[in-house]
Amino acid sequence: MHVIVMGAGVVGVSTAYFLLKAGHRVTVLDRQPVAGNETSFANGGQVSVSHTAPWAGPGVPWQLLKWVGRQDAPLLLHPRFDPALFSWGLKFLANCSKTAFERNQRKNLRLAQISRFLLSVIRDETGIQYHQRSGGILQIYRNNDELLAASRASRQIIDLGCEMRTLDVDACLAIEPALEARRDELAGGIYSPGDESGDAHLFCTGLAGYCEAQGADFRYGVEIEQLGVEPGQVTGVVTSQGVISADAYVLSLAAYGARLVKPFGIKLPIYPTKGYSVTVPTGGHNGAPSVSITDEDNRLVFSRLGERIRVAGTAEFAGYDTSLNEGRARSILEKARYQFPSAGNFDEATFWTGLRPMTPDGLPLIGTTPLQNLYLNTGHGTLGWTLGAGSGKAIADVISGSPADLDLRDFSLQRFR
Ligand SMILES: Cc1cc2nc3c(=O)[nH]c(=O)nc-3n(C[C@H](O)[C@H](O)[C@H](O)COP(=O)(O)OP(=O)(O)OC[C@H]3O[C@@H](n4cnc5c(N)ncnc54)[C@H](O)[C@@H]3O)c2cc1C
Repeated sequence: MHVIVMGAGVVGVSTAYFLLKAGHRVTVLDRQPVAGNETSFANGGQVSVSHTAPWAGPGVPWQLLKWVGRQDAPLLLHPRFDPALFSWGLKFLANCSKTAFERNQRKNLRLAQISRFLLSVIRDETGIQYHQRSGGILQIYRNNDELLAASRASRQIIDLGCEMRTLDVDACLAIEPALEARRDELAGGIYSPGDESGDAHLFCTGLAGYCEAQGADFRYGVEIEQLGVEPGQVTGVVTSQGVISADAYVLSLAAYGARLVKPFGIKLPIYPTKGYSVTVPTGGHNGAPSVSITDEDNRLVFSRLGERIRVAGTAEFAGYDTSLNEGRARSILEKARYQFPSAGNFDEATFWTGLRPMTPDGLPLIGTTPLQNLYLNTGHGTLGWTLGAGSGKAIADVISGSPADLDLRDFSLQRFR
């Protein structure tokens, strides 16, 4: 079968890889000059299998209210009426109960476990390098009560098959000596040794190159304008370079896919949520962490990517606006400089923003649509790097009619009906 994958981010490229492996002819379309150049470009780098909790959870609505109007808040809600955000927000609130939170976390965790295994398969089969580190993720806490609460919550994740250890300050420093500079402020941490980190952009370019060598056709600089649809099925993709047709089509355009399918009555509950990252060259300094860190108080993640440190976080509901608010980026930079003062050349940091394609329940959309040859693999929100490989294999299995590794009803669009 000839399959067109729309989008060459980590989700689209992983999809292309597994479709090729299943014996399909694959064409990938993307407006950028290379793969992984939008949301997959400078994310937090964490393959966080043990941290798949959705944003929607108990207590979150109150937390959001406390943050409204605070410019330095981890989450910034611009006070304007946006019907799409309103409708998304209602679905988000409906997922804030304890039951929904635990259910959604469990489903994502299962997909993340499969995904981590498939990442290792991809590495072994292709030999691609992306500054991958398997040193785990250490969540740090500065408050004892919060550490205890997180430790209690981690039991549920341990029961689902992840190793997580609650550590005192000395044990945290033994794992990551770079925490020494702020040792006095720490209460302890939770360490997940099975988690990983790596550069998603390098992964995308490496895997796209491998797929091209295996016969996939990657067409860059192609703007997808609309879908050609005849009753019941897609007939082609209308692009800046003409109409391109295939037997089946996979939508992996992150936050931009919803607009494309809306004219056909398909409503994707995906809202763009802007995040920031700061990348600091280590420049020969030796105070950079080598284990990936999650700073729970500041809602920031740190990943070592070769001779750079990536620090990422914050969320802004500002529609499709990708402009960079320098103040917010600098606030991340200063928090990173404070935590790891001798990590690198902070004055040479680069700033970036990306739009997380967020669903209200935090689970991606993987599966069929009312159009019989159009498939979804999108809406990975905060976890696209963690879930990308598993999602790519899952949709390739659906298209190939192969048995699935997990129950894909959990990720179907129908769950929002
Ligand atoms: C600050 C930040 C930190 C993050 N940290 C992590 C992390 O630590 N771990 C983790 O697992 N996830 C993280 N994420 C989330 C992760 O980066 C995303 O979920 C993931 O990159 C989404 O991948 P994607 O392939 O769906 O989207 P993208 O990478 O955006 O790919 C979509 C592609 O579609 C193309 N496209 C869109 N519209 C069109 C069009 N009209 N025509 C042609 N091409 C088009 C784009 O060029 C793009 O290449 C983070 C995100 C942000 C913003």
